[in-house]
Amino acid sequence: MSKNRDKPVTIKSDREIDLMRTANRMVAETFRKVTPMVKEGATTQEINDAVDTCIREQGGRPSFLGLYGFPASACFATNEEIVHAPPSKKKLKSGDIVTVDIGVEYKGYYGDSARTYGIGKISPLAQALIDNCKDVLKIAEETIRPGTRLLDLCLAMEKCISDAGFGIVRDYGGHGIGRYPHEDPFIPNYVAGYNGDLSLVLRKGHVICIEPMVTAGTYKTKIIDDWNLGTVITKDRKLSAHWEDCFAVTDEGCEVLDRTEDGKDGTELN
Ligand code: MG
Ligand code: MG
Repeated sequence: MSKNRDKPVTIKSDREIDLMRTANRMVAETFRKVTPMVKEGATTQEINDAVDTCIREQGGRPSFLGLYGFPASACFATNEEIVHAPPSKKKLKSGDIVTVDIGVEYKGYYGDSARTYGIGKISPLAQALIDNCKDVLKIAEETIRPGTRLLDLCLAMEKCISDAGFGIVRDYGGHGIGRYPHEDPFIPNYVAGYNGDLSLVLRKGHVICIEPMVTAGTYKTKIIDDWNLGTVITKDRKLSAHWEDCFAVTDEGCEVLDRTEDGKDGTELN
């Protein structure tokens, strides 16, 4: 999400985290359900419709529908798109990479996560971008625990992306989540040149979404004026991948909330 929010950082109770686990599990189960559909010849409109049905069948509400005026239930991003594309009737083709970003509200609490899929045979570069996003999330899982400074988390993520030689999107990043889909803090995937506040020390009960957005070229973005906030693309039109997990800080470490009943991220069938 972008940097502008005004919802304060809060500590969630065990009961609140239970509700957020349920919301995020619905997101993961939705990925499991739609993953076999995300292939050559499919359209993001078809995927969007399946996401909408699957969320509602589980008793959740697709929280992106209408959020900031967004016209659909899932956000997409194909190739040079980074985030926030509405679904389209254009068929996916071999070599594309497509991000599916899903949000659920359940009993007033939110879940949110994203996966980037390769369609058919993708280039080594495209695969490396996807793998780098997953590496960042692995590092986040190891780093998020009580006592970790946000600064150190962001430094670790920045190093992982920079070491791979990829661009780091600066205008968008991770965020707190809870009774609102986007809460403070904003969590950039970089530190060098960032002028916001990274002094927060993580505590049990913080719940945060981590969102690596990596590019094959520049960090600079451009907005296509296709809906209220617009679709964000890379300024140089090079590829971008984006992945997102939702973490609750526990007594000793963290729990990844957007997992299926059996602990999977939902993409295992792709
Ligand atoms: Mg998010
Ligand atoms: Mg998201």
